[in-house]
Amino acid sequence: MPEDNVLVKLEHGKKSFGDVAVLKDISLEVRKGEVVAIIGPSGGGKSTLLRCMTLLETLDAGSLSYGDLSVAEDNGAGHAVYGGKDVMKRAKSRFGLVFQNFNLFPHYSVIKNVTDAPISVQKRPRAEAFERGRELLAKMGLADKEDMVPCELSGGQQQRVAIARALAMDPEVLFFDEPTSALDPELTRDVLKVIRDLAAERMTMVIVTHEMTFARDVADRIIFMDDGLVVEEGRAVDVINNPQQERTRAFLSQYQ
Ligand code: ADP
Ligand code: MG
Repeated sequence: MPEDNVLVKLEHGKKSFGDVAVLKDISLEVRKGEVVAIIGPSGGGKSTLLRCMTLLETLDAGSLSYGDLSVAEDNGAGHAVYGGKDVMKRAKSRFGLVFQNFNLFPHYSVIKNVTDAPISVQKRPRAEAFERGRELLAKMGLADKEDMVPCELSGGQQQRVAIARALAMDPEVLFFDEPTSALDPELTRDVLKVIRDLAAERMTMVIVTHEMTFARDVADRIIFMDDGLVVEEGRAVDVINNPQQERTRAFLSQYQ
């Protein structure tokens, strides 16, 4: 039985594209209320890891569970065997995902972007979904933007709509893949601020980021990934201020 407070657990995850092993053997647990930052050089497999954990890609080997819900189990012969449609649907209701490039519906208004899935997937009453959507937009500092379409907003505003949209589904855990890397510094600040606020509320989050100061200050734990493996993992301040591995030191030295 999983521990009560483990929301996501990946064990010995492996993933290749053709002959290229992108995830070599990755294990990762995320506990309720925890903020985990994943850092590391480009091409190290961070996005693939997030895509496997959020069911956009399937693992070749290993097991994945969301709390007591087993999503994929290793069959013992090096293959991950996935549950059926119903399992996938239930798992998908437990997490949200925020991408680097916002991925909003371009023709939908802001409020429609935020309320569409709660209404069509979760079958929530329209009025309730709109009320919650407006609440979330206000929290993101976008109270006056609900009737705009994404292209009328700055990148930072679009990303905050994307965060509101993810939160509207009441996920247990929120994944972010480089949420600010498409943004200018001043827009980055606004997006990091809302993520900091969510962390202060103990929202469980897994964040791939190149913002080292943010990772050190906001994350409880940092995972340094390179070449498909977890090279180093520990308390955020320890990994950033006192890395143990040479590869981690070399990576962090670029940011000083
Ligand atoms: P990161 O997010 O750390 O930059 P990625 O997970 O995006 O790393 O990529 C890791 C490696 O996997 C890269 O070499 C990339 O080219 C390769 N890769 C990622 N997705 C695919 C795919 N769909 N098909 C083939 N190769 C891929
Ligand atoms: Mg990536």
